[in-house]
Amino acid sequence: MKKWPLNEFAQTSRTWFAVFLAVSLITLPNLIACFYWLPASQWLFGLALPLLACAFGMRVRLMLWLAVPLVLLVPACLACLFSIQNLPSTFLILALLETNQAELSAFQAPVIFAGLGTLLLLALYIAFVRSRVPADFRLGILGRLVVFSTLLVPIIWDLSCYGQTVSVAAIKERCLSTFPCSTVYYGYEAFSIRSRVQNRKELLDQLTVSQEPEFRDDARRQVHMMVIGESASKSCFSLYGYERETTPLLEQTPGLLPFRDVASTATVTLLAVPSLLTSPPAGKVIESTRQASLLSAYKKAGFRVYWLSAQKKHGTFDTLTSIFSTDADESVFLGGKIDLDGKGTYDATDAGLLPLVRERLQRNEPKVLFVLHTIGSHGPYPGRYTPEQARYPADKDAVNSALQRIRSGMAGDPHDLELAQNSYDNTICATDSLLATLINDLKQTHASSWLCYISDHGENTSTARFGKFMHGMVSRQVVEVPMLMWVSPSYEQAHATKVAGLKSHLTTPFSASCTFHTLLDMGGLSCPDFKPEWSTASPRFSPGPRQVCDSNGLIIDYDQKFPAQQSTTQVLPQQPTPKLATGTPRP
Ligand SMILES: [Zn+2]
Repeated sequence: MKKWPLNEFAQTSRTWFAVFLAVSLITLPNLIACFYWLPASQWLFGLALPLLACAFGMRVRLMLWLAVPLVLLVPACLACLFSIQNLPSTFLILALLETNQAELSAFQAPVIFAGLGTLLLLALYIAFVRSRVPADFRLGILGRLVVFSTLLVPIIWDLSCYGQTVSVAAIKERCLSTFPCSTVYYGYEAFSIRSRVQNRKELLDQLTVSQEPEFRDDARRQVHMMVIGESASKSCFSLYGYERETTPLLEQTPGLLPFRDVASTATVTLLAVPSLLTSPPAGKVIESTRQASLLSAYKKAGFRVYWLSAQKKHGTFDTLTSIFSTDADESVFLGGKIDLDGKGTYDATDAGLLPLVRERLQRNEPKVLFVLHTIGSHGPYPGRYTPEQARYPADKDAVNSALQRIRSGMAGDPHDLELAQNSYDNTICATDSLLATLINDLKQTHASSWLCYISDHGENTSTARFGKFMHGMVSRQVVEVPMLMWVSPSYEQAHATKVAGLKSHLTTPFSASCTFHTLLDMGGLSCPDFKPEWSTASPRFSPGPRQVCDSNGLIIDYDQKFPAQQSTTQVLPQQPTPKLATGTPRP
């Protein structure tokens, strides 16, 4: 009787089943994620991944022992999946690393569950592997074939569907959506960003800043403000010649200096904001995070520095922007406090920044710099203004549906375009109100002050040929940004040369990367990265080519792509009148 082969088959099947259970346990988050969004094929991909080394001959039990650290991550990932239906992202890990005890109490139940679950799971896993998986068990030919084909079939599928170039991103996406690759990678990314934040404190310690003598009058209070706009298209500001009256308050503000030909350095926030605050040119975000910022220089010169943001601290487009807030003495974020999945909403309004500014102005600190990061004109537009600020009729639900149709390519309906344009113009009215109020608040301090407003990039509107009501692409409306400077009478009196410099360059074409140098110069500050020839306040102003980084990281010479045209230097209209046929201004 050939009894032993059957016994051996039964034994091998039991071992295989035990290996299947052990690997299922260390990749349990993938199985749970299948109930939310993960395709079942990804669950199989995740099962085969830990066995890859075994397919090359490693003993299976050794691999399972090496995978013990993954067991420690499983309960935390399960808690995350049950709470937010997603695996931990870089931004969730960062938020948890930075959160304080009070905020963490909101996650008390999942934290306790994950802690107890970890101990229980670890004990079960060790006992199970020790008793059920023989020490010398290795994969046979069939086992190796199963592992290789489970891993290779989806990769070959990606290659055949997306082509060689795009498939690299598709394969990366496949791995990063699967536990444990996702958690290990995002954990690494979170810790590397965190270490970059720590390095910024060292940068501040090492920074040397000097100040011109005429600015060293301690008896005169100095209160300065930089306001970073969001998706504001210069072509929709009536002070730049737009037919609709969108900026009436700013037009009545004495001493306002509008720069008429400024090109953004990038077409998305993540790439544009760092180049406003630091010296590296277009698209060098990582380099920017390694260099001193405008905030660092003012802080080193003895200013109290505040970063007040209507945006979020963490998220796909936020973390590398908000990193500069760590240079401030105090930072406040009105957007989602803890962004769990990196996709949270931007639900604050810019008006919410006003009480924060006023409260800090009342502290009567002698030297203050505010950096306000607004949400401005970023979609969805109806959430960016109050009913009082809306000058053009735009029902919220109707606007959102119209925008959805326009962005999905159905842009033929003039009524949709009218509604969307009305709502977009209302966001500019809200910016007009915000800036006029801030200037008024600064006036009340009677300090030596300047306010600089510049949008990170613009937005295509209803007149764009492609990509209406979007940004990210290189077009005139996205690249040409509004930049305004206001100086208080006492500032102008004390620093007449700087103000004369500004006034002489209102129509000079320059890049938004000059902002860092201009605003240092406006405080009479100098540091190793400062270039006076890039300051619009300097008589030596000599800006170089205007480079723009598109959303794919490609650097473009803006003036070669869009040769100069008359409309970029329009004369201020004396009496702007709403001429657009689409929409009637509210009284
Ligand atoms: Zn932006």
